[in-house]
Amino acid sequence: MFGAIASLSDLIYPAQCLGCRTLGFSLCPRCTRLWSGRPIYSQLSGVRLLTTTKYSEQVAPIVLAAKERGSLAAREILADSIARSVQALLIESAANPYQALLLNIPSTQSAIRRRGENHSWALLGEVQKCLRRGDKTGQWEISRVSPFQLLRRVKDQSGLDPEERRQNLHMALTVPAEHFPILVSNNVVIVDDVVTSGSTCREAIRALLALGIVPLGVVAACASPTYFPVR
Ligand SMILES: [Zn+2]
Repeated sequence: MFGAIASLSDLIYPAQCLGCRTLGFSLCPRCTRLWSGRPIYSQLSGVRLLTTTKYSEQVAPIVLAAKERGSLAAREILADSIARSVQALLIESAANPYQALLLNIPSTQSAIRRRGENHSWALLGEVQKCLRRGDKTGQWEISRVSPFQLLRRVKDQSGLDPEERRQNLHMALTVPAEHFPILVSNNVVIVDDVVTSGSTCREAIRALLALGIVPLGVVAACASPTYFPVR
């Protein structure tokens, strides 16, 4: 039934690529290629950063559609990218590659109110679904947790330049000690939709290290071109 409704809505509103608005596709072949690359490794505060996609004009509309408009199709694209990187990270660097604790980067309360939902938490739920779908062994144990607390009010990072972003989040996050037992006994992976200046993830890494927790890595759906090797 849902398929029939979708087809009817396609007649009224022809499908448009979420990335570049080409008609006839929900994601056109060109944009699909942008999101389907193998994970690229980089570094953030000495921790591995994995991402599949350069943050660009074609990519930004999908990040925004997921974040600001609650588009499930867009969120699934981000989740698929993140899931592939999480899998690569675990296989490459974890003693037990079937288990991970995905760490949510907290949104401000005003962003959650404006969006009507907690986008980053919902995205982690989609990543869990993607990894479970690809689980041929039945061994995967993927959990999500939100251990970071904001110590003070911060501004929304969008609209700030890199230095303002760094100052905005400097010493802004903490991880309460009650989370220590679960964090220390798991493969801890920080997940974000997009890494631009990297200041949010750097602050998350700092807050974890302050508790003695070394994350296995940071995974983002897409990241600024500065995190990609120059060819
Ligand atoms: Zn496209």
